[in-house]
This record gives sequence, C-alpha cells and structure tokens, in this order.
Amino acid sequence: MAKRKTHSGTGRIPWRRDGVWLAGDTHAHYRNVGVERLAAEASPFCDFIAVTSHSHRPNFWRAQHAAVVAARKAYPNLLIFHGLEWGCPVGGHATVLVERSRSENAILSEFWRTYDGWYARSKPNTIQDAIAGLKFLAGVSHRTESTVILNHPSYGRPYTVDDMRGMYDAGALCVSFEGACGKQSGTPGSEIDPIVRKVGGAYDVLLSEGRRYGLTAVSDFHSHVSEGGKSYWPGEFAKTYVFCPERSCRGVLAGVKAAATYFVHNDIIGPLRFTARCGEREAMVGETLRVRQGAEVEVALDCIERSPIDRVEFITNDRSPSAFRVVRRKRRWRIGRWSRFSFTVSNVGQDFFVRARGVARGMRKPCRDEPGDMWFYTSAVLIQVT
Ligand SMILES: [Zn+2]
Ligand SMILES: [Zn+2]
Repeated sequence: MAKRKTHSGTGRIPWRRDGVWLAGDTHAHYRNVGVERLAAEASPFCDFIAVTSHSHRPNFWRAQHAAVVAARKAYPNLLIFHGLEWGCPVGGHATVLVERSRSENAILSEFWRTYDGWYARSKPNTIQDAIAGLKFLAGVSHRTESTVILNHPSYGRPYTVDDMRGMYDAGALCVSFEGACGKQSGTPGSEIDPIVRKVGGAYDVLLSEGRRYGLTAVSDFHSHVSEGGKSYWPGEFAKTYVFCPERSCRGVLAGVKAAATYFVHNDIIGPLRFTARCGEREAMVGETLRVRQGAEVEVALDCIERSPIDRVEFITNDRSPSAFRVVRRKRRWRIGRWSRFSFTVSNVGQDFFVRARGVARGMRKPCRDEPGDMWFYTSAVLIQVT
C-alpha cells in the first residue's frame, strides 16, 4: 500500500482548541455586478469570499485589485480575497487564493503571466508546468501565503486521478477541490461532483492513499438567478465551512490547507463536529487518529439540524484498503440542540479513512419551486495504525 502522506506531517491541527469556524465561498466572478455589490449581497451569508476572475478577462488583475481594495473598505467585516481562476496546465480550472498582503497583487501578476494556460506565451500544458506554478507560490510564501483549489474537477476539462495525485504531492499547497460546483440554479437537486458522490470514486481512492484532499462548495457567481443568471450569491445556497486559527484571510488559508472543512447546501445544518475517538484520544476532520492494532474507534457526527436530516452516511474503507462501503444511520441521539449520528469500528486491522454526508429531502432552493434532495459533505478523518 502507498506510504501515508499528510499535509502537515503530523495530522494534528495546532489550533484545534481555540480555532473558529468561518463560512464562505472561494470562487466568484464580479464582472456583471462589481465587487461592492458582490460583497454587499454576500455579507449576510459569509465570513469570507474570493473574487476569482480569469486572467484573459479585461476586468482581471489591476481592475479587480482596485475593486477588491475598495470593497474591503466598504465592508470591513467581510474577508475578501483577491484571487484568480487559473487556466491550469492540467485538468481545467483551479482557484489561486493569496493572502491579503502588500504583495498580493504583485505575486498574482507574476503567477498568471508565467503559469496561466490562457495567457503565458510558453503555453504550459503538462503536470510539470502545473507543479512549477505551485513551486513558485511556495517559494514566495514567506511574503504571502497561498493555496490552490481544483475547480469543478469532473466538468469542463476534467482532472484525472493522476493529475490530482501530482498536484497534491507537489507540496502542501494544493490539497482541496470543489466537491460541489457552482451556478446551481439550472439543474435539479444538489450538484455534488461525481468523484465525491460516488462511493469508491476518485476522492475515496485519493483518501485511501493517504492524500487528504479537503472539499469546498462554491457559487461560481456570474449573474444571480433572480436577474436572469444561473448563480446564487456567495453563501446564499452553498457554504464552505473552514476551521481557522483566526478570523483573517491568512486564517482561512490555514484551515483550507489543513482540510478542516465541510460544505452545506441550503443551510440544512448549522454547526457540525465530525470526530473519531479511541479512549481519551480524539481526531477532528482534517486530523489523523493514531491507534493500536485491534483498537475500537467510535466515529461521531454531531450537528444542529436546521431542516430534518433524513439520514447520515459514513463512507469508509475500514475493512480493506480498497473496499469502500457506506454505513447509513437514520437514528440519532439528541444532546440539547445537537443531533449525534455514530458508528463503531471494532478490532481495527489497518489504516483507513472516514468521511460523512447527510441529506434533507424535498427542499426548495432560493427562488426555485421544484423540490429536491439537499446535502452536506465533510472532508475526512484518517485513522492510522501505529
Ligand atoms: Zn471554471
Ligand atoms: Zn468560475
């Protein structure tokens, strides 16, 4: 079996005791509405948003940065990233988020001029070209932290599993992808990416190899559904929750890079805790629980239901590294306002992962009449036998 890799080397989140969950959106365009309107509409739903134009659009870079700076002044409580939707040399699109800093604009500019498939004269198109972009960002991290999130991995020009392995293995920079793409008003139900929806799909394969990708869900805002478009405002329908060491753009990047994330459609749940426990030791989403051979591990998902949750499903490879299964739980224990869904793995024999999802049925999206199933999905907890 492939050697385990963890983003941090330790599988522990240093801010687990005093971190804060922030909700937001990592992928939105502003061309049709302006950044100030985008920020105004997102503010009731989000702690953070990212403005991510394509580099070949005339509204990118200088114009975007000026608009982001103005919107930050007008909406000081909203964290706003100056980002890029990268024409990635492999796969399709990827989001580049850079920390809010003095050099954010200079770094983004150098990045897209050199590494963007749409723009760069060298027409980068190999995994090595993509990795060179990641290495550039890693090389300037002493000035400005950043992260890369793979966008809509199955749509447009899809990413292969090998692309995703290569991007992950290039360092600790690219460790997330969109588990649910944006522009959600056009299609029924929830647009969960097939590689996340399918049990034993690419996401489970990557996790089984110890590649701890985290999930996001985004608006990919272009124009609002009430104004003839296909998108919702950032956070209005899809929210990514990120467990951050502090309330800042830098804090959001740290949480995304720790894969300490889950996403929710239509606000079907509020706060969520997803943990694996063995005796006194506990690991949260984004962490690794280390146990002895033969140990018993209790996996628990606690959430506050804002709509009735029909069931929670745990997806795991607890019995064999390449045999993926779903454990369904309809029954819950109520602890105050919290609902607990859980299952136990006894006699642990090998390393495994567990991730979770839940569904509320027959719900309507904002501005739409037809009912459908709405989901939430978590990133994973890894369990390692020592
Ligand atoms: Zn895209
Ligand atoms: Zn986009």
